[in-house]
Amino acid sequence: MNLDAALDRVAESLSGSIAGRVGRRWPLAPLTTYRLGGPAALYVEPAGAHDLELLGAALCAVGLEAGAVPVLPLGRGSNLVVSDDGIPGVVIRLGARAAWIEPWAPRGPGDPEEAPPGVTAGAATALPQLANWAARRGLGGMEFAVAIPGSVGGGLRMNAGAYGREIAECVAGVRVFSLDRLVVEERSRTELGFAYRKSNLSEHDLVVDADFLLARGDTAAIRKRMNEYRRHRASTQPGAAQNAGSVFRNPSGDSAGRLIEAAGLKGHRQGGAAVSSLHANFFVAGPGARAQDVRDLVEHVHAAVHAASGVDLEPEIRFVGAFKQQDPA
Ligand SMILES: Cc1cc2nc3c(=O)[nH]c(=O)nc-3n(C[C@H](O)[C@H](O)[C@H](O)COP(=O)(O)OP(=O)(O)OC[C@H]3O[C@@H](n4cnc5c(N)ncnc54)[C@H](O)[C@@H]3O)c2cc1C
Repeated sequence: MNLDAALDRVAESLSGSIAGRVGRRWPLAPLTTYRLGGPAALYVEPAGAHDLELLGAALCAVGLEAGAVPVLPLGRGSNLVVSDDGIPGVVIRLGARAAWIEPWAPRGPGDPEEAPPGVTAGAATALPQLANWAARRGLGGMEFAVAIPGSVGGGLRMNAGAYGREIAECVAGVRVFSLDRLVVEERSRTELGFAYRKSNLSEHDLVVDADFLLARGDTAAIRKRMNEYRRHRASTQPGAAQNAGSVFRNPSGDSAGRLIEAAGLKGHRQGGAAVSSLHANFFVAGPGARAQDVRDLVEHVHAAVHAASGVDLEPEIRFVGAFKQQDPA
């Protein structure tokens, strides 16, 4: 069976049977912060555990395990560049029903009053929402996430972080729907293989929700830190423009932004995409930009920084779908 026929089969089996949404050629640009790129060949927004089971079964029936159907979990699209041709496989996005936060009491011996404060959040919860929820209750540890425009699911996959902190430090465990095994699996923090902006979660691991361990603190002090982070961002990053945050990971002991600036690339343009004049590791898309312009700019900057400093920068943003490789000059 070819991919198109397989996707038709999945779409047919889910239409009318899941409570969530399903559609062919679903526009993805509005679901990403770059607001670029083509549609998903098949888009599924499961509304709960039963929908996930139906989706997993439909995908397995058309050969997911054999690699016949590419799958992409999508959060708030703040770390992705979707190809102008779109995504040839299935894009799965947990919708508003997966955006929730509840107090969580870690199990353990002793007085529950003494238990450290915990929070459980659905995968679609926005990270700033989680940081604000915690601050209102005098819980610290998530302040760093107040201006990261991602979701809990995407944040865990990317091990999002800022200001010397990262999500790996406050997560206790996650529940993942495995598209291969069709069950929800519990994974503890130590099983998630966290490293700098990385985890071992795969495309077939759909984060459903996660438990976080926070620290009791003073609401005013927590809020003060969050306000400082917000102010710092507003003055140093082009937050409102179309972008996906830091383009390259910082190499050990240096900063990608410094290297790009030192190579004279601040403001450099490629089609409708440009290196931000505010922060050289942010590449912004302007009117008429294509996803391919962002890709070309990333390749150009990578090569120019390598030529200028010998450093081989590694992208942090993810390109998904097909892109053309630039000819080496
Ligand atoms: C203005 C701006 C500032 C930013 N600042 C920071 C920063 O300070 N620090 C930082 O680390 N990042 C930053 N980012 C990047 C981005 O916000 C983070 O990487 C964020 O964690 C991505 O979350 P998302 O929900 O948008 O994921 P997406 O971009 O949708 O996806 C990212 C990855 O996560 C996977 N994924 C998404 N949801 C799930 C799920 N439920 N289960 C399994 N996998 C999933 C996707 O398949 C993909 O591989 C910034 C981005 C912008 C636009």
